[in-house]
Amino acid sequence: MAQGQMAPGIVAGRLSSDELAANFDDLHPAYAPHEAAVAADRCYFCYDAPCQTACPTEIDIPLFIRQIQTGHPEAAARTILEQNILGGMCARVCPTETLCEEACVREAAEGKPVEIGRLQRYATDTLMARGVHPFTRAASTGKRVAVVGAGPAGLACAHRLAMLGHDVVIHEARPKAGGLNEFGIAAYKATGGFAGAEVDWLLQIGGITVERGSALGQGLTLDALRADYDAVFLSIGLAGVNALRAAGEDKDGVRDAVDFIAELRQAGDLSALPVGRNVVVIGGGMTAIDAAVQSKLLGAENVTVAYRRSRAEMGASGFEQDLAASKGVRLMFNVMPVAVHGNGAAVEIELEYTTSAGGSVTGTGETIRLAADQVFKAIGQTLEGAPEGLELEGRKIKVDGAGRTSVPGVWAGGDCASGGEDLTVTAVAEGRDAAMDIHAQLSA
Ligand SMILES: Cc1cc2nc3c(=O)[nH]c(=O)nc-3n(C[C@H](O)[C@H](O)[C@H](O)COP(=O)(O)OP(=O)(O)OC[C@H]3O[C@@H](n4cnc5c(N)ncnc54)[C@H](O)[C@@H]3O)c2cc1C
Ligand code: SF4
Repeated sequence: MAQGQMAPGIVAGRLSSDELAANFDDLHPAYAPHEAAVAADRCYFCYDAPCQTACPTEIDIPLFIRQIQTGHPEAAARTILEQNILGGMCARVCPTETLCEEACVREAAEGKPVEIGRLQRYATDTLMARGVHPFTRAASTGKRVAVVGAGPAGLACAHRLAMLGHDVVIHEARPKAGGLNEFGIAAYKATGGFAGAEVDWLLQIGGITVERGSALGQGLTLDALRADYDAVFLSIGLAGVNALRAAGEDKDGVRDAVDFIAELRQAGDLSALPVGRNVVVIGGGMTAIDAAVQSKLLGAENVTVAYRRSRAEMGASGFEQDLAASKGVRLMFNVMPVAVHGNGAAVEIELEYTTSAGGSVTGTGETIRLAADQVFKAIGQTLEGAPEGLELEGRKIKVDGAGRTSVPGVWAGGDCASGGEDLTVTAVAEGRDAAMDIHAQLSA
């Protein structure tokens, strides 16, 4: 018998297993073949296609849609995967509404773009369902490259290097590869263990060894890697979390949204995962929305996202804001946390109204209190554990356009490196491009 949404405190089993299964089902279910054909027929196959320019991995979108339209989804998959080896995951998680689909000429003309993301998923799923890997390795170069971090950037870099004939060792701190694909992305975007299956499929290329539980900074140093390998690629993501800087932040019930999401992604049984009755998420990006939506789907009664700036300034896209609202999440703008109240455990959160303009946020002095037995901090991740000696830019590892850091023989990409948006697809593009530059240098 489920506890129900009204049960006080942070408790497990608010909903029945059937309700949870329905709630966490695929956000964008896969196309059936006839649906894919109809969707592909809407494409104009534009010359100089704006959708392709808007894709960080520059997939030849009109070509792959034409291949689907003519009944060759596996050829379409190859077109996609040549540019983006994690095309299957990106088809599920890319904010297409702000990338390719926003640029699609049918979006401008009719407000309804060609559904590029779902077509990409149809093609890549079709190929991956056969369990085959479409690429083979070049003859061995005898060169060895160390990749640190097995997230999207590290995996894309490793795969490209392996394809080019280099031997790659990935050092991954966690017991599983995949990075935030495995531990961060909302559960309803990557259902059915897709993240793990995609890693296994990617590794079929051969030439890549993944050392799980091997962390840079814990017995493994950059100097040692530089001495042992011909090149090093750092793709350690952003492991730190910003502090709330509100009184009572240490009370029970206040935790990092990314930890909660990781726990949720790894939970074998969602009915065993505790969630509050009154949940407040502090932040305005993808992580905030994901924590809020998933809390609601777990059965929290009231879920509020509290963001210190205006709706227009929110990092989460319009699509994500609408998704949250459609699940019953309340979005509050121009409020910032002042204090978490409660005797040991959180009971209420006090928020101060703000005005925001030109990048600055000012409190108005007026406050409001919301019931909050669970408070998630989703106010941004930070670089943690970057090796000493690397020049930083802002709060990330400084790289040039090809991913070279200030230290010879060391490249970096993905969230930990300067430039680019913090997106899965951007991490893939940066990993791939760094691999090409490493290859050029090792071949010179
Ligand atoms: C909650 C959440 C939801 C998101 N949702 C989306 C989404 O829907 N769509 C989207 O496009 N993007 C999304 N993102 C962003 C996206 O997940 C990241 O941009 C992307 O994963 C970055 O890839 P990466 O390889 O740079 O880093 P990560 O995916 O963070 O991978 C870094 C890897 O390095 C490992 N590592 C860290 N330190 C060390 C060390 N010292 N030694 C060895 N290994 C180490 C980590 O364990 C991890 O496996 C989301 C992010 C979060 C936090
Ligand atoms: S912009 Fe739209 S219509 Fe044109 S090629 Fe891209 S998906 Fe097709």
